[in-house]
Amino acid sequence: MKLVLASGNAGKLAEFRQLFADLDFDFHPQSEFGVDDVEETGLTFVENALLKARHASRISGLPALADDSGLCVDALGGAPGLYSARYAGNHGNDGANTAKLLHELRDVPDDRRTARFVCVLALLRHADDPQPVIAQGTWEGRILHAPRGEGGFGYDPVFLVPDPGLSAAELTSADKHRLSHRGQAMAKLHALLQSQ
Ligand code: IMP
Repeated sequence: MKLVLASGNAGKLAEFRQLFADLDFDFHPQSEFGVDDVEETGLTFVENALLKARHASRISGLPALADDSGLCVDALGGAPGLYSARYAGNHGNDGANTAKLLHELRDVPDDRRTARFVCVLALLRHADDPQPVIAQGTWEGRILHAPRGEGGFGYDPVFLVPDPGLSAAELTSADKHRLSHRGQAMAKLHALLQSQ
C-alpha cells in the first residue's frame, strides 16, 4: 500500500520504511506531493498527529501517517510538552531549549525531576477516516542537572534513563530505538496493523 509520511525528516522516513517493510507499506515523503507543514493548533499530541496526517492525506489523496512527540516534565506541569521543539523561542534550537529547561528546573531536587518522552503515531486511511489507527509510546526518565553524551538530538543529553543509568545521548542508537517512546510507538503500530 502506498502511504504518505507527514514529515520532512529523512531519518524518520528511513526508519518507517525499514520497520514496516514486511507489511508491504510503501512510504513516500509528503514533499513528493507538495504537502506543506500544517499549523499544529491541537492541545494534545494526539490532536496534532491527526491534524498532520489529515492534511497530508487530504492533499495527496493517499493514506497518511504522522507522528507528534515531545518531552513532558512533571515539575513543570507537563511542559515543554507540545512546544518541545520551540521551548526557547526558535524552532529546533536544541541547545537553547535544553538550557532553558535546566534553568527552569534549577531549584528542583532529584526526586522531583521526573519526566517522560511521548510519541503518538496516527494513521488515516483517507482524509475523512473517522477511525484512525493510533499508537502511543512513552519513555520514563529524569532530567539531569547538566548535559551528558554526544549522541541523539533534542533533549537527549539531559534525559537520564534510569536503567542503565545513562543519558539518552549516551545510548547507542540501537539501544535508544529499543527503549524510546518512538521505538515503542512504532512497535505498537506495527502490531496493530499486523492484526488488521
Ligand atoms: P517532533 O515530533 O519531531 O516535532 O519533535 C518535537 C520535539 O520534541 C523535538 O524537536 C525535540 O525537542 C523533542 N523530542 C522528541 N523526541 C525526542 C527524542 O527522542 N530525544 C530528544 N528530544 C526529543
